[in-house]
Amino acid sequence: MLCPCGSEQAYTECCQPFVMASKPVNSPEQLMRSRYSAYASKQAEYIYLTYAKSSQVEQSVEDIAQWAAQTTWLKLIIHYASDHQKNLARNENAQVEFSAFYQHNGQIWQMREISNFVMEDGKWRYLDGDVSDSKLCNKPKRNELCFCGSNKKFKQCCAKNF
Ligand SMILES: [Zn+2]
Ligand SMILES: [Zn+2]
Repeated sequence: MLCPCGSEQAYTECCQPFVMASKPVNSPEQLMRSRYSAYASKQAEYIYLTYAKSSQVEQSVEDIAQWAAQTTWLKLIIHYASDHQKNLARNENAQVEFSAFYQHNGQIWQMREISNFVMEDGKWRYLDGDVSDSKLCNKPKRNELCFCGSNKKFKQCCAKNF
């Protein structure tokens, strides 16, 4: 199985070691990708545990699991990742900007977010995010271009993830 994060690598070689075997991530982008893959494979505990401590108080594994169960994740696009080494040296948060496509209650959504990451106890954690855009996408016919902007036909692109 290909990794849900879109790396074109096998899940076992990409995000699974982080999600299932607690291998530490090397960068905020890796954490972003593995959290997306955890949503896609409905591993709510990993998502909870990779929140920063201050954000965990507003979350519960049950709520995350419920949201994940109702949602089909279709595609992740990473637009930008800050220089996390420099961020660490300056004692500032790291950022990753991404778009995610998902289906929820029968509708396809695109959301774009700038996520903030902090280092806690030597590990990168997800602090919070600013959603800059969230919109509905039309579901294309099988031979029409996919909504994700890949320039591929829908049937050869995100249709595979439904
Ligand atoms: Zn991956
Ligand atoms: Zn697509």
